[in-house]
Amino acid sequence: MKNINPAIALSEEQLSQILEILPIGVAVIYRESGLTYLNRKGRALVEQEANTKLSLQELLKTYPIYRLGTEERYPYQELPIVQALKGKNVKVEDLEIRTKTKIISLEVEATPILDEQGKVIYVVATFEDISEHKRIEAERLKAENALWESQHRFATLAKAAPVGIFRTDTQGKCLYGNDISFEMIGLSQEESMGEGWTKTLHPDDVEDVQKKWYAFALNGVPFNCEYRFLRPDGSIIWVYGQAVAETDINRNVVGYVGTITDITASKQIELALQQSESKYRRLAENIPGVIYRYVLHPDGKDEFTYVSPRIKEIYGIDAERIIEDSANSWNIVLPEETDKIKFSAVVSGQTLQPWSEQYRIMKPNGEIRWMEGFSIPEKQPNGDVIWDGFIIDISSRKKAEEALKEREAYLRMVVNNVPVILWATDNQGIFTLSEGKGLEGLGLQAGDVVGKSAYEIYADFPNIIIGIHHTLTTGISYHVQVDINGRVFEALGNAFYDEQGNLMGMIGVSFDITERQQAEQILADYNRILEAKVAERTEALCQSEEKFRAIFNQVFQFIGLMKPDGTLLEANQTALNFADIKLEDILNKPFWEAHWWTISPQTQQQLQEAIAKAAKGEFIRYEVDVLGKDTIATIDFSIRPIRNSQGEIILLIPEGRDITERKKMEEALKNANLKLERLATLDSLTQVANRRYFKHYLEQEWKRLTREKQPLSLILCDVDYFKRYNDHYGHPVGDDCLIKVTRAMKLAIQRPTDLIARYGGEEFVIILPNTSFRDAINFAQDIQAKIHQLGIPHAQSQVSQYVTLSLGVASLIPDTKYTPEDLISIADVALYRAKQQGRNRFFPSVPPHILQNIESFENLATPLFNK
Ligand code: GH3
Ligand code: MG
Ligand code: MG
Repeated sequence: MKNINPAIALSEEQLSQILEILPIGVAVIYRESGLTYLNRKGRALVEQEANTKLSLQELLKTYPIYRLGTEERYPYQELPIVQALKGKNVKVEDLEIRTKTKIISLEVEATPILDEQGKVIYVVATFEDISEHKRIEAERLKAENALWESQHRFATLAKAAPVGIFRTDTQGKCLYGNDISFEMIGLSQEESMGEGWTKTLHPDDVEDVQKKWYAFALNGVPFNCEYRFLRPDGSIIWVYGQAVAETDINRNVVGYVGTITDITASKQIELALQQSESKYRRLAENIPGVIYRYVLHPDGKDEFTYVSPRIKEIYGIDAERIIEDSANSWNIVLPEETDKIKFSAVVSGQTLQPWSEQYRIMKPNGEIRWMEGFSIPEKQPNGDVIWDGFIIDISSRKKAEEALKEREAYLRMVVNNVPVILWATDNQGIFTLSEGKGLEGLGLQAGDVVGKSAYEIYADFPNIIIGIHHTLTTGISYHVQVDINGRVFEALGNAFYDEQGNLMGMIGVSFDITERQQAEQILADYNRILEAKVAERTEALCQSEEKFRAIFNQVFQFIGLMKPDGTLLEANQTALNFADIKLEDILNKPFWEAHWWTISPQTQQQLQEAIAKAAKGEFIRYEVDVLGKDTIATIDFSIRPIRNSQGEIILLIPEGRDITERKKMEEALKNANLKLERLATLDSLTQVANRRYFKHYLEQEWKRLTREKQPLSLILCDVDYFKRYNDHYGHPVGDDCLIKVTRAMKLAIQRPTDLIARYGGEEFVIILPNTSFRDAINFAQDIQAKIHQLGIPHAQSQVSQYVTLSLGVASLIPDTKYTPEDLISIADVALYRAKQQGRNRFFPSVPPHILQNIESFENLATPLFNK
């Protein structure tokens, strides 16, 4: 001690001064007397003003000590001070003391101070408030948990979503897929990785998928494609695949993510639709002919892509064999006929005129038959020529024709005075001659009727009697056809005269035409069938294209995620876009309160009940109408419960497939005719009359008002700067704008006889029967006001910040001086003037002779809005 520099030998006072300013709490505790010293920081921490002395017991009573974050008292024996009093140096940070006002987490270190014998004299405890530290730590943990949970949630969603989700590298090699995607592909996860997934692509779809994928990867053409997987178990699934590029910060493509949706059900509907086609096909299969489709490719290769099964009866070979190789069909044709029909097919392909030909074939059994083929060619954009045609076995008709020819030869013999039934009467109608083999058909023999009166013999056949009488009295030739005993006879007779010109009687020939009539009947029937076939086939082709487009537009679906109590956790973009809502607006709120379901309280109620059932583990599925931004869609809606490993239901996945189109198709199936009729008169985009109907209606009203001498007004409207609108906002928004504009115009309509029609593009026309010029002008102003109220922003317009119209108003009293076209062209000129004068205004115009009577005419054309 003596060696110690006095300058650093500290007095007790100095020591306590230092202790007082230390930034951590320091306490000195004796076994017997308890707390004897507490520095300033310590006092502040435990909220004690003065340096009071407390026994150990009092100390623990004043400051109850708990285990951190629990309601559990810290065990006495484990307290750092108690342990230190036993000689141990202890440090803990799981300790919490509670003062009157707060809870403090403490890190405490207790150090025993020993005497020379090693006995504890007192304990120095240092302690530090680690509440803040703990709070940050807890927050970090919470955030980490939340992150994990959200990642986990997405993983769960990806795992349980009813669509396949995949990621690939830039080469299209699979890096990730969810369970559903593997299920759809039909391979295990390992098998699907890399290029593995392409193994089960349906062979017929490989090329198409590859082509679209390259177009997507190389040129950014959006990848969406319908294709099939042929799974190892032999089942086929139709999917709709979509993909987008994944980019890094520098917008370099690093891979692709995509979805595959099972659309097998839609495809089945499509099949059902095709059944309407099959109505015709069944018919085709039941008539005694063959329907086929023959394709000639630009490289000269040809093929039959469809041949109806009846070919087996007619050609004696299976349709499949002809579809396999067209040569199997050509080989059947007799060699001497082949060149003829090949040549006429080439001509038909070049001129696109129908092909029709009669030709002979030899069936595999050696039988020779006559065929007649008829087909209509159509050129495809890829250079293919497609014939849809019809083959019929005409052997029996040929036979009938042959028989007819023979008969003709026979008749020629009659002309050469070899009678079938050759007969003659005198001018009183008494038979003077009856000869010929044909008499047998009547059960008569030559000469049987000679001397008898024709009037008597044919008393039961008034047309014969009238005919004979007519010829014998007027000299005009006699020609009747008559049914006797089930056979048809044709009789021709001529009056003959003596040298003085007196009518002496008639001479005639009759023959049995029963067979010939039958042959003619067959011919007529066959022509009718052919005509009906051609009409049906054309119709079927039109329909199938329309159907295809409808299916294509139908594919998209809504997916979400919620808690079992119906609190919404996620909703996909398709669903959000559909209703034009933001995720944050509906997040953590009851699903049934979201926009989609507000269509009716019943719909919300139904959903609540469905959620309650799903929360008990039931898979729910039903069809329901939901509300979009400004549409209503029918969806095939389902809720799938998701369980954790303990079997508890932790999440619900609601899913909706838009089946509006499907519903529409079903409807279309029911009301095909009705729809066709509607299509013929309505504009499909705006649902107002189309130009065709406008023309019809204008003509009809023109006629009526000509009779009634009442005025007819017409307004032509054209959207201003609409090309720029499209360029700026895109064509779909443009379409939407047209719909809104028509809706606003409809509001202006007062009378049932007024008609709005789409005149073309962004031009509309309004017919106002029985409406004066003045009223038509008011009407135009009203429309302008209604369009203005819509307030559709138009950033590129030169005249307004909103979409505006220019209108041409025309009016006249129809009479024969004018035609409906004149009225249209007056309105057209007026519209042109409205555009010329700056747009967003109307311009009124009437025929020149009325014009003179209207004062200060130009004043009428004041723009209503100039902003
Ligand atoms: P103006 O004020 O002189 O009438 O100019 P405008 O651009 O409206 O006239 P213009 O005739 O040059 O362009 C008409 C535009 O309307 C061009 C075309 O793209 C657009 N359009 C026509 N039909 C439709 C449609 O059905 N949907 C959409 N979105 N745009 C259409
Ligand atoms: Mg225009
Ligand atoms: Mg325009």
